[in-house]
Amino acid sequence: MTVRSRLLLTLAGIILLMMIPAVYGASQLQRLEELAVSLEMDHSDALASIGQIRASLAELDRYQRSHVADPNDRYRSGMRRELVFMANHLELLNRSLGPGATASMAAVRDSLEVATERLVELLEAGLAQQATDYLEQVKPLPDSGRAALNRIEEGVDERGREAVEYAQQVSASAARTTSLAVLVALLLTLGLGLWTVDALSRPLSRLSDATAAVAEGEFSAPENLPYDRSDEIGDLSRSFGAMTGRLAELDRLKAEFVSLASHELKTPINVIAGYAELLEEGLYGDMDPRQREVLALVQDQTKSLTRLVNQLLDLSRFEAGGLRIEPGPVEIRTLLEEVEGSFRALADQKQIDFRVEGREPLPEDAVLDHDRIRHEVLGNLLSNAFKFTSPGGRIRVEAASENGTLSLRVTDSGIGIPKDQLDHIFEKYYQVGDDAKAQGSGLGLAIVKHVVEAHGGTIRATSEVGSGTTFDIDIPSRSPGDAPA
Ligand code: ADP
Repeated sequence: MTVRSRLLLTLAGIILLMMIPAVYGASQLQRLEELAVSLEMDHSDALASIGQIRASLAELDRYQRSHVADPNDRYRSGMRRELVFMANHLELLNRSLGPGATASMAAVRDSLEVATERLVELLEAGLAQQATDYLEQVKPLPDSGRAALNRIEEGVDERGREAVEYAQQVSASAARTTSLAVLVALLLTLGLGLWTVDALSRPLSRLSDATAAVAEGEFSAPENLPYDRSDEIGDLSRSFGAMTGRLAELDRLKAEFVSLASHELKTPINVIAGYAELLEEGLYGDMDPRQREVLALVQDQTKSLTRLVNQLLDLSRFEAGGLRIEPGPVEIRTLLEEVEGSFRALADQKQIDFRVEGREPLPEDAVLDHDRIRHEVLGNLLSNAFKFTSPGGRIRVEAASENGTLSLRVTDSGIGIPKDQLDHIFEKYYQVGDDAKAQGSGLGLAIVKHVVEAHGGTIRATSEVGSGTTFDIDIPSRSPGDAPA
């Protein structure tokens, strides 16, 4: 599934989930409205029918009396019409309330019908006195009818109350169910959202870490990238894997080339240096002062070239994992004296206050690669210190040993390094400012770091622009008796 379809699907899912409670709530409201309408209709229809029957009862009573006093067709058909009215409205009440509720009124109506027909019969037979007596006899019938109607009316009111209670129950249960549905929909929406966020953010964050690692110079693609996903993130991971593979290959080719080129340069440089030395010794005849000056320049440049080629070779071997240090017992004090001796002349020449100090207690011996610590580590750090410190400045080398760690510190009072560049100075070819570029290669500190780390140690730099720079090296000290690491 593509990221686009996943997002669209999540959106559709969320809309659907939020619609379920909305639709349910709307349907419950609709039900309540229907209930209210039917309640109102039932109630008012039933009351109207009761009113009609009440009116017919009164009319029938009036017609009966009038008919006994003055028998004629108008009153007779009036009585029968009122009886039909009653029957019709009782039928309507039957339908909405059920036959049980109207049974007593129906019985009264039937008795009234029988009484009416009997009255008609007596009057048609000319028995006026008997008809008057009979009317007196059935006089309680309309009252029983009104009493029956009152009971029906009470029943209608009772039914209304029950219907209102039922509507209240429906509304309460609808409110409960709708709230529950909203809650469930919210939880499901949250789950769906989190699932989508997780499915996208986790691989993206891994990809972002991997990209940061490439930016740091680590060209191996991590195993945990989602290479087998079929979406855009999978495509990105596969392209990223291919890209790192290509970068690693280019890096290897570059290192191979640098290593080969430096190796090939070594022989001609040695030949040049050798012939320059022979020239200097006068083997090819005497030279005038101008020629000696040029020869000194050639020798100076040859030395720079030799140093650069050696640095390039060392670095490429370190990076290929092919260069190992050769630790052996080293007398720390002797090492410090040698370092002081190498830079004394330069210090005097540049009029720099240069001192090498060992802080007691110092161990007699430590297991180190003597040449690499002396030339590549201290040599490089001191060359830089002298390079960036003006005459009248101060340079110190301090050695100390504490808690099984040999600490070496090189401090100068030179130009310093801006804070934002401190993190980069150990990268190869990194140089601060144009002056540095004119004087070096940017490889020295990268080699220093490799050598220190190969000893299991660490190096860090602190600096203040205009006040100077300090390099602190900590190397776990092993005495010659310890087993090799
Ligand atoms: P380079 O051969 O150019 O000196 P390095 O790797 O030895 O290369 O140093 C990298 C950069 O760090 C230098 O170019 C310089 O700008 C800065 N640097 C190193 N040491 C010092 C120092 N002691 N004082 C000021 N800047 C320094």
